This record gives sequence, C-alpha cells and structure tokens, in this order.
Amino acid sequence: MDAAVTMHLAATPADLTAFARALRGPLVRSEDSAFAAAAGVHNVAMQGSPLAIVRAADAGDVATAIGFACRNDIEIAVRSGGHSVAGHSTGDGVLVIDLRGLRGLHVDLAEGTAWVGAGLTAGEVTGALAEHGMAVPFGDTGSVGIAGLTLGGGIGWLARKHGLAIDALQAVEIVTADGEVRMASASEHPDLFWALRGGGGNFGVVTRFQYRLVPVGEVLGGALFLPATRDVLRSLAPIASSAPEELTTISMVMPIPPLPFVPEEHHGRTALVLMFVYAGDPADGHAAIAPFLQVAQPYAVAAMPMPYPGIYELTKDGGEPGPSTTRSLFMDVLDDASIDAILEAVTDAPDMFLIQLRVFGGAMARVPAEATAFAHRSATVQVTIVNPFTDPARVAADTAWNRALFTALEPKATGVYANFLEDEGEARIRAAYPEATYRRLAMVKRRYDPRNAFHRNQNIRPA
Ligand SMILES: Cc1cc2nc3c(=O)[nH]c(=O)nc-3n(C[C@H](O)[C@H](O)[C@H](O)COP(=O)(O)OP(=O)(O)OC[C@H]3O[C@@H](n4cnc5c(N)ncnc54)[C@H](O)[C@@H]3O)c2cc1C
Repeated sequence: MDAAVTMHLAATPADLTAFARALRGPLVRSEDSAFAAAAGVHNVAMQGSPLAIVRAADAGDVATAIGFACRNDIEIAVRSGGHSVAGHSTGDGVLVIDLRGLRGLHVDLAEGTAWVGAGLTAGEVTGALAEHGMAVPFGDTGSVGIAGLTLGGGIGWLARKHGLAIDALQAVEIVTADGEVRMASASEHPDLFWALRGGGGNFGVVTRFQYRLVPVGEVLGGALFLPATRDVLRSLAPIASSAPEELTTISMVMPIPPLPFVPEEHHGRTALVLMFVYAGDPADGHAAIAPFLQVAQPYAVAAMPMPYPGIYELTKDGGEPGPSTTRSLFMDVLDDASIDAILEAVTDAPDMFLIQLRVFGGAMARVPAEATAFAHRSATVQVTIVNPFTDPARVAADTAWNRALFTALEPKATGVYANFLEDEGEARIRAAYPEATYRRLAMVKRRYDPRNAFHRNQNIRPA
C-alpha cells in the first residue's frame, strides 16, 4: 500500500469534520467547489492532489493543523505564495497548511521596520512600502511569496546594494512542530533564527516576518537587448560586478519576446536580455549601464526612471502559472568553456527557454558565510536554466535539453541556491548547504523538529 493511501485511511471524514470545527479559517476538501482554485500552484508540472487545505486564519490554526497531521500521520505541505520550484507546497494526500490568509502589514516608519504576514507576495509588500519610499530586498518577480523566498535567502534587484531578504530580516513568529508559537530573533532562539535565514521550511511554519526597511525611491530600470555573442557573454560578469552597487542585473539568454519597445524584426531572435535596476539617482543609472552598450550594438534599449515596484510590471509574465523544469548552479567565474556550452546549446534550443545569468557581489557578498544558513556569499555568478513546457509533446525533449546543458556546466559549479532546486537528491541539498552549514542546520533541526514533521522541503535530516 503506498503512503498516500495510508494517509487517506488514517483520517476519516468524521475526523476531518471535527478538525474543521476546531479551526478559525476554512478547511477546503477535495469535494468542495473551491478546492481546484485553492490547490493550484505556480509550477503546474508539480501539481499534486492534496487531502485537504487549511486556510489558516492565525498561528492557532497552524498549531491545530500541525497537531492533527502529526496525530494522523498525514504529510504536511506548507504553502505561502505557491511558487516552489520543486512543488513542495502541494503533493498527493498531503495536508496543505496555507498561509495566504495572513495578510497583515504593519509599518513602523519611526523604527524603520515592518511586520509582514506570511501570506503576502513580494509585489504586494513592495507596492505598499514604496508609498513610504521604502523597500525590502525581495526577488525578481512580484507574485512570489515573501515567506518561501525569505526562508531560502531571497536574491533580487537590490542584492548588490542592500543584500538578501534575510539580511533585512529581524525577527519571525513561528509555530514549531510541537505546536508552540515562538519568536525567533538575534536575542530569542538565536540558533533557530540563524537556521531560518536560508534553511527554508525545515524548522516550522512562519506566520509573520519582521524586516528592517531600506530607503528606495525612484530607480532606473529596464532591459538592454544585446546580441548573444561570445564577446557579450564574456563581458557580462566583469562589467556587472564592477558596476556601482546600485546596479543589480539579471540577464537571460532567451528568444526576445514580442515587446513594443523592440523592433519587430528582432522578435523571436535569441539575445541576451539584460534586465537591471539602478537603485540610486536614476540620472546616474545611464552611466552605470553604458559599458554594456559599448560591447555590442544593442537590438533595443529600454531604460526608464520608474517607481521601484515598476520593475515587477516588467517581469510579471514569469509569475503566471505554467509547467516548467529548472536546473541551477553558482559559479566563481563564467569561463569560456561555460560560455561556449551555453552558445552551443542555444543553436539547438526549444522554441522557449531561458538561461538566466545573475551577477552578484556588493552588499550580499559582505555578509560572512557563517552568519546565516545561506552560505554562498562569495559566488559571483548564478546560472539557471528554465524550460517552460509550452508544448506537452515536447516535455521529454525539452527536459533532455535542459539537463544536457546543466551537465555541461556542472563541473564548474560551486554550489546551488536551495530555492532554485527541484527534488534533485541528497547530493544537491548538500551542494546548497556546505558541510559546516549543514551540520549546524541538522543540530537546530533536532532541537525544533526531531521527528522531521516538516520534510516537504530541501530536507535537513535531524542530527
Ligand atoms: C517565477 C519565479 C521567480 C522567482 N524568482 C526568485 C528570485 O528572484 N529570487 C529568489 O530568491 N527566489 C526566486 N524564486 C524562488 C522562490 O524564492 C521559491 O520558489 C520560494 O520558495 C517561493 O516562495 P513561496 O512562498 O511563493 O512558495 P511556496 O510554494 O508557498 O513555498 C515553498 C516552500 O517554502 C516553505 N515555506 C513557504 N512558506 C512558509 C512558511 N510560512 N513557513 C515555513 N515554510 C514556508 C515550504 O517549505 C514550502 O514548501 C522564484 C520562483 C519562481 C517560480
């Protein structure tokens, strides 16, 4: 008998009814009309069939749900924004603890901090904070949940100027496996607080995050559409990493989408789409991006002063649900062999793909590796190969293309970002967490989740 069937038998309909009564928020079951919409996640290739979904109204509901799942031996999936690359916030026969209802946002401008409910997205919080000229360094896409993003590290448009999302994290409210509601910060449960800054969903269910805010006003943002040549790719990391820290770039080798500001003859052409945010005086941003434009004649340039949340308008298509597969790695250098592997792969690429190149340094790199559970502070480049499955008949072929390029690049890998992992096995989890980090995480796991109740994640085994 497989695990999912055992789980369904363990909790009877009567048990579920009694459980539903003990909750303040609704319990959505598979027979409910709201179920399909409530169960949907971003990567529909990973869409599971949960037993039921707890739309938690507060930390008490979370504790009740953890207790019910543990007593009935039901696997727990924790869901906030639903953007797990690995599909960990859903699954067959699981009880989903869904935090989307926790939408509180309390900004304290005098203190320069904000308490943010786990159910909010990066775009929602960024939009609200921009009204005060403030921000938290979240990721590149507005629809991603702040919770999963922050717990893995949180690398985005302000990484070089202001660091990662975890570098702005001051405290969390968390429900641990024993059902206790705890605060974790530098002074309360500091071991737990260290682990939560990069260790993902291993240690409990976070209901609220407190961030230190950073000032961000109008930015220069947009994209340069450059030919995907060897010279252009060779120059990317040296220019991006020596630029003023106000400039953070996220580039994609991909077919140019049919955008109004790109001449039509270039639509569909494979290019380096170099997206950027200059988080300083927008007038100074033009000088910061000028060196990229000296390497090659661009197909198009779209550089606009905008309120900081405007950048999420430009990436919102990536937030739309759809099936995809991803492989990712950190590197110390994007060397010629890797560049050649990328250029060779694109000669035989599917209709839709993107090879994302992020260049780091700056504030993110100044935090010591051991200060948080995100240890890859000195990585200079991240390569992420994403294949959206646009044609169901090509899933196998597109996956094979993705893995072939990954295999060609992997010898140069220095690690991987936990939030960009699918279910890729123990060795890849170890690549996300270097030995010393992993050992410390395993000790914290033993203390707060000794029976590994939270294991639908990049799982740390209790020491
Ligand atoms: C389109 C897209 C763009 C992305 N861009 C970036 C980026 O620029 N930078 C970046 O750093 N990452 C990025 N990511 C990765 C993203 O950070 C992770 O997928 C993250 O886990 C998503 O968080 P979520 O809350 O939306 O996901 P969910 O699917 O809801 O959760 C994912 C996992 O996080 C854990 N988790 C979620 N909520 C909680 C909670 N409240 N308490 C405890 N554990 C929890 C659980 O283990 C859960 O399985 C991107 C992902 C996508 C799909």
